[in-house]
Amino acid sequence: DVQIDIRNVGKVYGSKTEEPVVALDGVTLRIRRGEFISLLGPSGCGKSTLLGIIAGFQSATSGQLLQDGRPITRPGPSRTVVFQDYALFGWMTVQQNVEFGLKAKGMGRAERAEIARALIAMVRLNGFEDKFPHQMSGGMKQRAAIARALAPDPDILLMDEPFGALDAQTRVLLQEEIARISSEAGKTVIFVTHGIDEAVFLADRVVVMSPRPGRVREEVLVPLPRP
Ligand code: ADP
Ligand code: ADP
Repeated sequence: DVQIDIRNVGKVYGSKTEEPVVALDGVTLRIRRGEFISLLGPSGCGKSTLLGIIAGFQSATSGQLLQDGRPITRPGPSRTVVFQDYALFGWMTVQQNVEFGLKAKGMGRAERAEIARALIAMVRLNGFEDKFPHQMSGGMKQRAAIARALAPDPDILLMDEPFGALDAQTRVLLQEEIARISSEAGKTVIFVTHGIDEAVFLADRVVVMSPRPGRVREEVLVPLPRP
């Protein structure tokens, strides 16, 4: 059951003053529904570019990208992104940040509040609903960002080095959490990282990318069941 079908996708960053940069060169990848994929490769190999194209934030220069048989042309609530720097709204509480993801759906106030509370509990931030981002640790901010990304009930959760800014201990905690959450919530996850341990620990399949120009070099099935 192919959910995302990436066919021969290329991306060239053009510039008037410098040489164009070939960030992706013929990437072909099929992702099944419910799969947890780690996209692994050294810095600069095009991981963020590929994630941005899947999200719909950027367009490919060549090739085709389909979700459930339809071309991906713009960002949408069926694909949400968690970034390394959390990207929470600093002027909103945790509750408001999470509810923000629900507003687009035209949901009533009470229903929004209830769903947000359930998501906040899922990421184990109960009791911190009324805190602002600056009042929380990095780990807690990333938990809030994960809850916000899950709010629109996306089919696909895209994560771009989500734990890269956290200390080692917090990172391990959140790795365990995202493994639990993704299987509980039944989401397809594409997890970008340059950490081999993290990639292998989390994924059903590790997709290894070559340095520039970015290509899929290898796909490795991870044989051990996840915790
Ligand atoms: P990664 O996420 O693996 O570190 P990126 O997708 O960020 O890789 O970058 C891939 C290549 O494209 C790099 O050489 C980077 O310098 C280049 N690049 C990324 N974004 C831009 C941009 N907006 N303009 C020009 N070059 C870019
Ligand atoms: P994690 O958030 O991944 O559990 P952290 O090391 O970020 O790990 O935080 C551990 C715990 O310490 C949190 O769950 C929270 O209870 C408390 N804590 C950390 N930083 C703060 C803070 N700035 N304000 C309130 N409580 C905090």
